[in-house]
Amino acid sequence: MQTQKTLGIIKPDAVEKSHIGEILDRIEKNGLCIIAMKMKTLSQAEAAEFYDIHKERPFFNDLVSFMSSGPVVIMALEGVDAVHRYRQIMGATNPQNAAPGTIRADFAESIDHNAVHGSDSTETAARELKFFFNEDEICPRLVTQDRH
Ligand code: ATP
Ligand code: MG
Repeated sequence: MQTQKTLGIIKPDAVEKSHIGEILDRIEKNGLCIIAMKMKTLSQAEAAEFYDIHKERPFFNDLVSFMSSGPVVIMALEGVDAVHRYRQIMGATNPQNAAPGTIRADFAESIDHNAVHGSDSTETAARELKFFFNEDEICPRLVTQDRH
């Protein structure tokens, strides 16, 4: 299994409900390293560009409004099989279908207020990491850990 980087977002609903700490705890306890992190409120234009792949979908406008409705926490994560591993920790898009113990099962209310985002492939992750972080904002740690 390969070491990968992925992009995660704690969405406005989970930030509003003060679940940042619990979500970060699950990420770290499941073997992923946080290698960059920032908090900001996205503009409508940023949210629309970020979710550009969904622009033809009926829920697009609601998704953009929601994602720009309040602060989010944006994270670069690193670990073995990080893209798939983080998607597993997140749980299914619709929290009603999310496996017990996943972030969405425990913190999400509905499919459109579903607590977290995660890149869905290594290609998407590369694009999304670049969208939010400059190279010099990312602090990879696995190389150092492997030396011990
Ligand atoms: P995300 O990209 O946010 O991590 P995801 O990859 O699990 O979620 P996508 O199919 O990429 O799911 O959809 C992006 C977001 O659009 C979802 O997180 C959800 O909030 C919203 N969404 C997806 N499908 C629907 C739907 N049928 N009705 C309402 N909102 C939806
Ligand atoms: Mg997605």
